[in-house]
Amino acid sequence: MDLLIKQARIKDGEALQDVAIDNGKIVEIAPEITGDAKEVIEADGRVLIPGLVESHIHLDKALIADREPNKSGTLQEAIQVTAKLKPTFTEEDIYSRAKQALEMIISHGATAVRTHAEFDPAQGFTGFNTIMKLKEEYKDLIDMQVVAFPQEGIFKAPGTEKMMYEAMEMGADVVGGIPYNDAPANEHIDLIFEIAKKYDKDIDLHQDFADEADNTSIEYLCEKTIKEGYEGRVSVGHLTALHAMEPEQLAKVIDLMVKAQINVMPLPATDLHLGARNDQYNVRRAVTPIRKLRDAGVNVALATNNIRNGFTPYGNGDLIQIAMLAVPVGHLGGADDLPTVLPMITENPAKALGLKDYGLAVGKKADLVLLDTKAVATALIDFPERSYVIKNGKVTVKVDKKVNILR
Ligand SMILES: [Zn+2]
Repeated sequence: MDLLIKQARIKDGEALQDVAIDNGKIVEIAPEITGDAKEVIEADGRVLIPGLVESHIHLDKALIADREPNKSGTLQEAIQVTAKLKPTFTEEDIYSRAKQALEMIISHGATAVRTHAEFDPAQGFTGFNTIMKLKEEYKDLIDMQVVAFPQEGIFKAPGTEKMMYEAMEMGADVVGGIPYNDAPANEHIDLIFEIAKKYDKDIDLHQDFADEADNTSIEYLCEKTIKEGYEGRVSVGHLTALHAMEPEQLAKVIDLMVKAQINVMPLPATDLHLGARNDQYNVRRAVTPIRKLRDAGVNVALATNNIRNGFTPYGNGDLIQIAMLAVPVGHLGGADDLPTVLPMITENPAKALGLKDYGLAVGKKADLVLLDTKAVATALIDFPERSYVIKNGKVTVKVDKKVNILR
């Protein structure tokens, strides 16, 4: 075998397991595996999980917060400062920033990522092409899905509709959209489905990113998804407007979402930073109601969205940090809730992205992370080092830090 991981904690309360990997796949899991391996990792009781899955990020506009700060912290100013910076983006600039952001998420254990790559008639495809290039260059380290993303709207920015088709022809994996930033939202959604059906691709929309629940288009999106037979193939990011809905209306919307099998990516770093900026007191949390969605059976995947720009001036590419934001904000720290959060950065996003052969089981792809902690139940709150990251059966990241207290 190529790699043998000795004595890893896979499940609390059960025996430690050896995991044998060969030819990029997990070939055996048992309390003791003997035989020759080209490489052996002594897990020594540390927690082994499947690779983290970053399901919503913008690599092309990462790491620009220092160039033009968003002083008010509002969505309006975030859009303004980013619009001002966009014409200054060269291919070299986008490449070096996106690469740095990509390496940040890889070093924190991500083995798959879905990134939105934006374009518009003014900027052309510079950013999109750069991201496609990185996808190829980093394919041994991370599986990347590229979303064709019309950030400035489609009808609002004439020429974008044609570019959507061009992006699909150039190999985009997913059709993106932003109904709340275009009018009419329903027609925007119709067009996205037309493109997705033509190329047989999944859909991922920036959806109902607002503090208030008026003018939402999630209901229409669900109906359209069912009508087109696209159940399970549509994901939405943000969906913050749901937190402002009256319980009765919310229950109806969630019921529709379950029927349409919509995947939801809450983006707590951005949503908390930009949301509820007009509240003078009793400031709202402004994140989609994670607990209610989860309890109803909606697939919920936590994601980063942005790293250090006008929309989110912080972040280091660590999904565990994002999950730890979601825990208090979503009231997910209870004994029954906490175990449901780790899957929101592993299995749930893997399902949303339609990843094949994902998971910690025999026959699955050997995309794994060894965490420097001893219990699965508390793995998140321990904020552990990623001791090893393994992609397609090969060690891609190794972290070895020792803390010495001097006295
Ligand atoms: Zn986004």
